[in-house]
Amino acid sequence: MKYRRVGRSGLKVSEISLGSWLTYGGYVEQERAASAIRKAYELGVNSFDTANVYERGEAEKVMGAILREYPRESYVLATKAFWPMGEGPNDRGLSRKHVSEQINSSLKRLGLDYVDIFYCHRYDTETPIEETLRTIEDFVRQGKVLYAGVSEWTATQMQAALGTADKYLLDRIVVSQPIYNMFNRYIEKEVIPLGEAEGISQIVFSPLAQGLLTGKYDSVASIPGDSRAAKLEWVKNGITEQKIDAVKKLSGIAREHSLTVGQLALAWILRQPNVASALIGASRPEQVEENVKATGVELSEETLSSIDTILNSV
Ligand code: NDP
Repeated sequence: MKYRRVGRSGLKVSEISLGSWLTYGGYVEQERAASAIRKAYELGVNSFDTANVYERGEAEKVMGAILREYPRESYVLATKAFWPMGEGPNDRGLSRKHVSEQINSSLKRLGLDYVDIFYCHRYDTETPIEETLRTIEDFVRQGKVLYAGVSEWTATQMQAALGTADKYLLDRIVVSQPIYNMFNRYIEKEVIPLGEAEGISQIVFSPLAQGLLTGKYDSVASIPGDSRAAKLEWVKNGITEQKIDAVKKLSGIAREHSLTVGQLALAWILRQPNVASALIGASRPEQVEENVKATGVELSEETLSSIDTILNSV
């Protein structure tokens, strides 16, 4: 496994991280979830991701229970808050009240004293940035949070937060968690350039487009019964014949490099120095084993340009 520094901080994360959305505490049963997390750890993955809202706290419970088997200093764990956790007006967003209650609740569910990264899961238009950043800083001072991150914030929103942090706070945002994969490259335009200029790394989610980029879907009519798309209708609705055709073409390039198409998709992401880690999901340990082999793969300019040609046709 290779490790990269997170932004301008001293923190290092594995090039592949493992997340728990939809899977752990959700459609993946406990034993399989445990073996996927343990496999990742054994293979050198030191970066794990969850959120308060994933299965309403169940994902945190599963991840915390397994990670507690290992020395606390050996892994980096992230959680998040923003999305509704109840019906009340204060059960959502990035107010001091909600963020404080959620960080404390997350720590209880995880069974841990601190999280390494706390992410603002989305931008909150109703809470002043100062209020949110000061709250996170209070948790940093208490030792309950080590680093601050944001998820799916625009470059403009991040810039505003940095300006505030520079004026009022000890620390800055060092990591951003946006979606990034071969079918969704929006961060290349503004988010990555801002990250490079300001020392904010990207830890990118859905790098395999929820499994589509592994080549497991052969046609819209033949979705494998044990896959995410078979379990969740809205995931199935995002799969098109056009994208499946592109994946088939990408598989040709992958074969020429003795890679699976999923490994090619991950190596393609890791070509970006501003990406600290590709944050995968895995419903079984074998998937983790396959995916971690994408680290250390170098893709030539010629290969990258053949990939672009395929992606530009989607
Ligand atoms: P991926 O794009 O990696 O998709 C993961 C899914 O792809 C797996 O659950 C599995 O699905 C399939 N898969 C993975 N590897 C293989 C393989 N080698 N062979 C076959 N199938 C494979 O990422 P996710 O969309 O799951 O997102 C990853 C993490 O990112 C989440 O767990 C979460 O922590 C984070 N995230 C953050 C968000 C945010 O707003 N900040 C939003 C979404 C995710 P199957 O069940 O079909 O086996």
